[in-house]
Amino acid sequence: MSARLSDIRSFIDERAIPLEREFLARPFVELEPKLQQLRAEVKKRGLWAPHLPTDLGGGGLSLTEFAHVSAALGETPIGHYLFNAQAPDIGNCELLHAHGSAEQKKTWLEPLARGEIRSCFAMTEPEFAGSNPVWLATTARRDGDDYVIDGHKWFTSSADGAAFTIVMAVTAPDAKPHERATQIIVPMDASGLELVRNISVMGEKGSGYSSHGELRFTGVRVPVANRIGAEGAGFALAQERLGPGRIHHCMRWIGICERAFKLMCERAATRELSPGHKLGEQQAVQHWIAESRAEIDAARLLVLDTAQQIEANGAHAARDRISLIKFYVAGVLQRVLDRAVQTHGALGMTDDTPLAWWYRHERGARIYDGPDEVHKSAVARRILKGFGLKES
Ligand SMILES: Cc1cc2nc3c(=O)[nH]c(=O)nc-3n(C[C@H](O)[C@H](O)[C@H](O)COP(=O)(O)OP(=O)(O)OC[C@H]3O[C@@H](n4cnc5c(N)ncnc54)[C@H](O)[C@@H]3O)c2cc1C
Repeated sequence: MSARLSDIRSFIDERAIPLEREFLARPFVELEPKLQQLRAEVKKRGLWAPHLPTDLGGGGLSLTEFAHVSAALGETPIGHYLFNAQAPDIGNCELLHAHGSAEQKKTWLEPLARGEIRSCFAMTEPEFAGSNPVWLATTARRDGDDYVIDGHKWFTSSADGAAFTIVMAVTAPDAKPHERATQIIVPMDASGLELVRNISVMGEKGSGYSSHGELRFTGVRVPVANRIGAEGAGFALAQERLGPGRIHHCMRWIGICERAFKLMCERAATRELSPGHKLGEQQAVQHWIAESRAEIDAARLLVLDTAQQIEANGAHAARDRISLIKFYVAGVLQRVLDRAVQTHGALGMTDDTPLAWWYRHERGARIYDGPDEVHKSAVARRILKGFGLKES
């Protein structure tokens, strides 16, 4: 594992980071041919998809082992993509591996694992609060051996160019809230499925993998065999996906923090405010550096400990920890990025470093996978229950 981690780090430093300037200056799809070359090289070196089981061509790492890798890949915006460890494909692979039928694995999981196709996950709807995941209007109605799907989704990340989406749709409107929805595979070229637009996010529409789509489903017909797991199990499967998913995201954020920290320190040590006087001699900057170091280290330890708890006792038993890391690490990420931008002055606002790209794109970290406030309240409610607080 440590040999592989050092190979991965070398690849990130020597091959991925040099491509960053181009990534920041051009639409993702224009860079795709170069990225595909690098993906082929990753495969050739035996570093491909470190999180996937070996029978799917991956590295077979445990959750905790992959957490270290994810932090290394997170040091550049293209790291996870180059190693085929990018969200949402990583979550879709885990889901299909655990719950897909033999046919679904052959048709969708295996090409996904080989990096021949991409996928997306369509749950959030513009008209309904995504923070309440059981409140959905998209329906999948049984008609013989088919489901007929109608609905409206948005923030379906990476829908542009994906081969299929996994859609969360209501199959039993009168069931208990957590048993109403089902996850169903829908090919992106299915009749009646429209990619309405790539949503402009912080001034950028993005393209290909690096985009967030709005989708409209109008009478989309797919076979019942496209259902993942049991009817009504959609919510439970979504919850199952989120446990390891939060470890992946949090360690990616820690990778971003480490890179931002490095850039901040390099700048502080070299930028002169007046002849012979360096920026890093200023107490304010010194405090930003010390605070960032403490927060990143604390975040890393908390996430690794949570990964170990998930492996030992399962995601449900570790649910408080999973909520804690979600909002704590998202907050550290935001603060460290902000300090790094500030240290760089005007340079921090440019796309000459990856800081501004992360500053824009990772603001979402406090919103997706459950907004921070939802996680804080969930943890606090359980703590206060132990002190006898009953909610009205
Ligand atoms: C970059 C990005 C990528 C995404 N990718 C995907 C994807 O691939 N697939 C997908 O299906 N969805 C995706 N989403 C959507 C995401 O899951 C939702 O945005 C999220 O669940 C919040 O839902 P909402 O936007 O409807 O906000 P709302 O539910 O309208 O909430 C708005 C705000 O209200 C506050 N709030 C909400 N609930 C509470 C509460 N209980 N207590 C206190 N305050 C509260 C929070 O501050 C929250 O930010 C993505 C979002 C972003 C930003």
